[in-house]
Amino acid sequence: MMDRPIKAINLTILGLQQKGAVQILSRNPLQLKVLEPGLVSTMAETALVKSLTDQGTLSREGVQAVLAALNMDVRTKMWRADHEATLLDQQQRIGEADVAARIDALRTRWQVADEEFAQKEVRRKAEWLELTTEAGAVKTKIEYLRTASRSIVQRSALERVLFERLPDLAEPRQGDPACPRCEQPNPSTSHFCRICARRLVDDRPGLLGSLDEIAEVNLHHRRFSEGMQACQEIIGLVRGLKTGIESFTESVADMRNSQTKHNLKTLQIDVPQDSIEYGTHFDRLLQKVRDGGLSLHPKVFAGHIQGLIAEVYTEDGIKEFFETMGEELSTQADAQW
Ligand SMILES: [Zn+2]
Repeated sequence: MMDRPIKAINLTILGLQQKGAVQILSRNPLQLKVLEPGLVSTMAETALVKSLTDQGTLSREGVQAVLAALNMDVRTKMWRADHEATLLDQQQRIGEADVAARIDALRTRWQVADEEFAQKEVRRKAEWLELTTEAGAVKTKIEYLRTASRSIVQRSALERVLFERLPDLAEPRQGDPACPRCEQPNPSTSHFCRICARRLVDDRPGLLGSLDEIAEVNLHHRRFSEGMQACQEIIGLVRGLKTGIESFTESVADMRNSQTKHNLKTLQIDVPQDSIEYGTHFDRLLQKVRDGGLSLHPKVFAGHIQGLIAEVYTEDGIKEFFETMGEELSTQADAQW
C-alpha cells in the first residue's frame, strides 16, 4: 500500500467519506469539508483532517503527514498481529506441555495402581487357595456323612454285637490260598476276599454260620469305608495342590503380561531353595503311588501314602510352599520394577 502513496491517501479519504466524517467538495483539485470530527479514528484519518487548510485542501506537508501516519497505522497493525500470534503460539505450547505432563502423571499413576492390583491379586489367590483346600476336605467329610449317616446309625447297634464276635480280620500268611478273582492271598478262615470281596466259601446254612459271615462282611465294609475315606482325602489334597499350582501359574502369567505391556525389564526370580526342595516331594508322591500298586485295597493304598502325606503335605507345609513362592514374586517385582 505504501508503494502507492496517492492511492493510500485516496483510500483514507474514501473511508472518511463513507462513514460520513467528510464530504468531498472537489476531486481535482482535492477539497474536503469536515462534517463529523467525532467519526475520525485512525492516525492517518486524524492527520488528514488536521492537515486540511482552511479551504479544505491538502498541502504537500499535509500529504507527508498523512503518509507518515499511514505508515504508523500499518506498523501498529503488523505489530499487534505479530504480538497476538506470538501469544497464541506460547499459549499453545504451554497447553501441549501441560497435556503431556498430565498424561505422563496419569500413566505413572495407572502403572502404580496396576502393580498394586497385581500384588493384591497374588495375595488373594494364596488366601483363596488355602480356603479352597480347607473347604474341599470339609466337603468330602460332609458328603461322606450325608450319604452314609442312616446306614451308620442302623448298623452301629448290630455291629457292636458282631464285632464282639469277630474283633478283626485275620491277615494272610505265606502259603494261604489265592482269591480266584484278584489272585491275592486270603486266610483260609475267610469267607470273603479281603481285596475284592469275592465269596471264597459256599454260603452256610444256620444262624451261627450266617452271623460269622455277617461279622466278616461288616469288617470288610469298615475296612473298605475307611480306605475309601482316606483315598477321598488324598484326592482332595492332590486336587487342592493342583488348583494352587494352577492359580500360582496364572499369577506368573499375569506378571509376565504386565512386563510385556509396560515394557518392563525381565524379572529375575531366584526360586527359593525351600520351594525347590518341596517340589521334589511331588516326585516322591508319584513314586509312592507307583510303588504302592493301584490294584490293591483302598485302605492298603492309602496306608502306603499316608505316611508321606502326614510328613510333607501338612496344612502348614502347603501354606508355606505357596506363600514362599508368592512372596518371592512380589519381593522381586518390588525391587526390580
Ligand atoms: Zn479277590
